[in-house]
Amino acid sequence: MTSIHSLFINGQWVAPVKGGSFATVDPASETEIARVAAATEEDVNLAVAAARRAFDDGEWPQLSGKARAVYLRRIAALIRDKQQRLAELEVRDNGKPLPEALWDIGDTAYCFDFYAGLAEKLDDQQEQAVALSDDRFSSVARKEPVGVCGAIIPWNFPMLMAAWKVAPALAAGCTVVLKPSEVTPLTALQLAEIAQEAELPPGVLNIITGLGAEAGSPLTAHPDVDKLAFTGSVPTGRKIMQAAAADIKNVSLELGGKSAFIVFDDSDIEKAVEWILFGIFWNKGEVCSATSRVLVQRNLYDALLARLAEEAERITPGNGMEAGVLLGPLVNAAQYEKVKQAIARGAEQGATLLSGGKRPPGLEKGYFLQPTIFTEMSEESDLWREEIFGPVVCVRPFEDEAEAVASANRSRFGLAAAVMSADLARAERVARKLRAGIVWVNCSQPTFTEAPWGGYKQSGIGRELGEWGLNNYLETKQITRYD
Ligand code: NAD
Repeated sequence: MTSIHSLFINGQWVAPVKGGSFATVDPASETEIARVAAATEEDVNLAVAAARRAFDDGEWPQLSGKARAVYLRRIAALIRDKQQRLAELEVRDNGKPLPEALWDIGDTAYCFDFYAGLAEKLDDQQEQAVALSDDRFSSVARKEPVGVCGAIIPWNFPMLMAAWKVAPALAAGCTVVLKPSEVTPLTALQLAEIAQEAELPPGVLNIITGLGAEAGSPLTAHPDVDKLAFTGSVPTGRKIMQAAAADIKNVSLELGGKSAFIVFDDSDIEKAVEWILFGIFWNKGEVCSATSRVLVQRNLYDALLARLAEEAERITPGNGMEAGVLLGPLVNAAQYEKVKQAIARGAEQGATLLSGGKRPPGLEKGYFLQPTIFTEMSEESDLWREEIFGPVVCVRPFEDEAEAVASANRSRFGLAAAVMSADLARAERVARKLRAGIVWVNCSQPTFTEAPWGGYKQSGIGRELGEWGLNNYLETKQITRYD
């Protein structure tokens, strides 16, 4: 990769003003893959200026939705053409197993196609008549792009998270400065190359790699940024909201979670085990909506725990590039330490380690952990309350529906939840009582580009995906005339 030391600003690859760089590391081998440009405030200023010009003086926001859709569909096609290479890069940078990376890249391409479809429809929906109480006046409500967007994303689904923000923003007619996570910057740089190949007008999409404090923070503080779209942790989300408050910037936040999965005793035990394992161990548990708290009705508790431990022990940890590997390494040394500390604290606070908790035998290098199951923790323990963001699941028993719902809702997070029961009326009733933005019934984790995604409580503000995702990047204006 030749352009790795550069930032993508105004349609060109440029060196960072201060010339700094940082390393990105393969978590399976602990070796450096590449050094990547470290943007600072000076580069952020250039990127925002390019996005501002492309918005204020360029044609992008004035193009029809159909015209913008042509670029989005080109980007989708180019991502599909490069799917294998992009997926392999994602495995090296993030550690996830290759089949999961291939899904992610497929979803990334689909996301651009999906928002191309919404951009095409936007032309007809852009202005809607508003019925007024005084017939001397007539009025229309008009949708317009918000402006220049600063998008900041995490490392767990690097390219997909970029698409969740960039695709709807471009569809709406906004221009974007994207800052990927410093932990996994490589596929975002590929997205920049793809934008260039798709002949996206200069300045419409700018991609700057860099550290949170050096590149992310100045982007959030920049007065020429109209909107901030952030996915990441609650503490960073809080800082971003504070920065947005200075200029009353439009802000959407997708933050952490501690998602509960309620399993009633009429559930098929094998299906429950399958969805729990997938819910917590896919993407190494580094998933904001991961099934990290499992509540099992007392009659099924012992049998389910036994099957869960048995199946968890069959999961093969290893290098994500190897066939048959279901659990890759954690993303980096810091996350590895954080998860190991959570496991140690869990044991100290009196929880029972049912399975896993250690480095898998035979894997001496890399940030690998066994799939880990804890039981017997108190509701007040850190294990049960705090997001771990790793392959660690906590299981507690419950007696009845009211207790399960109350326990699931007793959390400062409210991103996702799941409920399983053969009694669909009960499952649907519980789904409506759960205080979370996403509730799965008789499954856990399937995510559809068409459906709204986002959290209650400290899990965030606003919704991504579907038409909700497009609305994130649109302002509404009324034009009212006196006839
Ligand atoms: P993080 O908050 O540490 O970093 C996220 C991004 O913010 C990175 O690009 C980082 O460089 C940047 N950043 C850090 N400090 C900043 C600052 N002061 N100003 C501006 N930008 C700054 O999060 P992470 O560790 O990368 O990701 C894990 C977190 O993301 C978890 O809490 C997870 O639940 C959450 N997440 C949520 C969703 C969702 O859809 N709700 C999806 C994926 C991940």
